[in-house]
Amino acid sequence: MSGTMDATCAYCGRTGAPKTHGHHVVPKCKGGKETRPTCGSCGSFIHATWSHNELRDEFDTVEKVLADGRFQKYLGWLRKQSPAAHFKTFRRNGRAEGKYR
Ligand SMILES: [Zn+2]
Repeated sequence: MSGTMDATCAYCGRTGAPKTHGHHVVPKCKGGKETRPTCGSCGSFIHATWSHNELRDEFDTVEKVLADGRFQKYLGWLRKQSPAAHFKTFRRNGRAEGKYR
């Protein structure tokens, strides 16, 4: 996708945040077809927090992701940051590498 720089992120609601792109709500490799504008920071957080299987089975809508306590905590933090900044969330220690597919 191109020309989405002024899109509003479906997750954090920021407009024109870096790396905003059409992101699959359910991972494409798990059969997801719906895409929503998602900024790079939210996309990174989502993939660092949940596996593709979890995104398919438990967090298959924007609303479910938004309702999760971990996402709320991230959002509270993100809103204090510079709107132009892009953050990369690194996977937490201890998570099985093989689960991230
Ligand atoms: Zn976002």
